[in-house]
Amino acid sequence: MALRVTVLRLNLAAIHHVNNLYSVSSTRKLTENVASKPKAASGGETMTGHLLYTPEHLALKESLKKIIDQEINPYVDQWEAEGIFPAHKVFKILGNAGFLGVNKPVEYGGLGLDFSYSIAMSEELGNIRCGGIPMAIGVQTDMATPALARFGSAELKKEFLLPSIMGDKVACLGVSEVGAGSDVATIKTKAVRDGDEYVVNGGKMWTTNGTQADWMCLLANTSDGLSHKNKSLICLPMNSPGVRIARKIDKMGMRSSDTAEVFFDDVRVPCKNVIGREGMGFTYQMLQFQEERLWAVGNILTMMENVIRETIQYTRQRTIFKMPVLHHQSVYFRLAELETEVELLRSLLHRATALYIRGNDVTKLASMAKLKAGRLAREVGDSCLQYWGGMGYTNDVLVSRFYRDARLCSIGGGADEVMLSIISKYMDTVPKAPPK
Ligand SMILES: Cc1cc2nc3c(=O)[nH]c(=O)nc-3n(C[C@H](O)[C@H](O)[C@H](O)COP(=O)(O)OP(=O)(O)OC[C@H]3O[C@@H](n4cnc5c(N)ncnc54)[C@H](O)[C@@H]3O)c2cc1C
Repeated sequence: MALRVTVLRLNLAAIHHVNNLYSVSSTRKLTENVASKPKAASGGETMTGHLLYTPEHLALKESLKKIIDQEINPYVDQWEAEGIFPAHKVFKILGNAGFLGVNKPVEYGGLGLDFSYSIAMSEELGNIRCGGIPMAIGVQTDMATPALARFGSAELKKEFLLPSIMGDKVACLGVSEVGAGSDVATIKTKAVRDGDEYVVNGGKMWTTNGTQADWMCLLANTSDGLSHKNKSLICLPMNSPGVRIARKIDKMGMRSSDTAEVFFDDVRVPCKNVIGREGMGFTYQMLQFQEERLWAVGNILTMMENVIRETIQYTRQRTIFKMPVLHHQSVYFRLAELETEVELLRSLLHRATALYIRGNDVTKLASMAKLKAGRLAREVGDSCLQYWGGMGYTNDVLVSRFYRDARLCSIGGGADEVMLSIISKYMDTVPKAPPK
C-alpha cells in the first residue's frame, strides 16, 4: 500500500518539478503551443493552458483512469445486476493507491492536496459506467468525512478517518430521515447524554453504503427543540448493539449502490465520538454540503460528456431515410447545444472550486452549479436517449442507465428547489416574515 501511494506521490512530485521548469520559460512554451497545436485535454483546454488543473491533476486523473478501466468497469454490469458492489474490495484498491484521501491530511494517510484535486478525481470517476459506484466513493471521500477531517479530534480521526482513507473502513452519511429530507432542521433522531455516552434513538433513510458501512457520520439532536443549534455530528460504529439495517431500498437507478433504511434502538456511543463541538453539527453539515455538491457536479459532467460522445458514435453509424441519424440538423444542433451547456457548467464548477480553495464562501455558486447539473443531466439523458430509438430503451446501453441514474441529481444532496431557496436567499429576494 505504502509503495503505491509513494509512487503516486513521486509521480506528482516529478510532474510538479517539470511544471516549475515550464513556468520559468512560459513565453517560449506559449509560442511552441501555438505552433504545434498541443493535444486537447478534457474540456477542450490544453494541458499547459488549463485554468484549474496542473499536470499534477492530470497525472492523478490518469492513474485513477487505469484503476477504473482495470478494476471497476469490467464488473459494473455484474454489480448493477446484483444491486450492490463490493465496497470493501473496491475501496481497498482505491485506498491503496491513495485515492480516498487526496485532500485529507498526510498524518491520517491522505495526500494533503487541495480540494481541486478532489474535483479532478470526481470528474475522472464520471468515467465509471454507472452512477452508483462513483456516488458510493463520493460518500466516502467528500460527504461523510470532510467535517471529521476538519473538526474532529485527533483520536477520532485516528479511529475513523485514517482507516476510511486507507480503504479499511466504509463510511456512510446519516442525515435524511423518513420524515426529514429537504428540511434537515426537522430531523428526529436523538442522542441523549447518559454519563460519558450518548444513547441514540431514531432512524435514518436513504443511507448510501448503509448495508456495508463500518461507521456512520450521524446527524442527531443532542438537545431538545428543532433549531439549528441542537444538532451534532457523531461517528457511530455500525456494529454497535441496537443498530438495525431494516432493508435495502429497491431503486429505479443507482442500482449497484446499496441504499439502506437504518434504525437505532438505544445505541450507546461514547460522547468523545462527537465531531468538533456539540451543537455545531448543523453548521458543519452545511459546510460539508458545499464539497458534496461541487463533487456531484464534477462527477456528472464527465458522465454527460460520455453520453453525448456515445450518442454521436451511435447516430453516426445508424442510417435512417438514407442518411445517418446524426446528419439530421435537428440532431447535431441539439448535441452542439448540450455540449455547450456542459462546457458552461464546467466553467462554473472550476470557478467555484478555484474560489473555494482560496478560502471563499462559494455557497451560492455551488448551489447554482448543483441546480444546473441536475437540470442539464435530465436534458442530456432525455435528448440523447431519444436519438438511440428503441436501442435507447434497452438496458444494454449506457444512455438508459444514465437516464435513470442521473435523475437523482435533482433530488439527492439537496433538491433543485432547495438550491433555488439558497440562491434566492443570497439574492435577497425571499419575502421576509411581516413583523409581529
Ligand atoms: C439514491 C439515494 C441516495 C441517498 N443517499 C443519502 C445519504 O447517503 N445520506 C443521506 O442523508 N441522504 C441520502 N439521500 C437522501 C436525499 O438527500 C433526499 O432524498 C433529499 O434531500 C430529498 O429529501 P426527501 O426525499 O425527503 O424529499 P422531501 O424533503 O420530501 O421533498 C420532496 C420534494 O419537495 C420539493 N421541495 C423541496 N423543498 C422545496 C421548497 N422549498 N419549495 C418547493 N418545493 C420543494 C422537491 O422537489 C423535493 O424533491 C439519498 C437519496 C436517494 C434517493
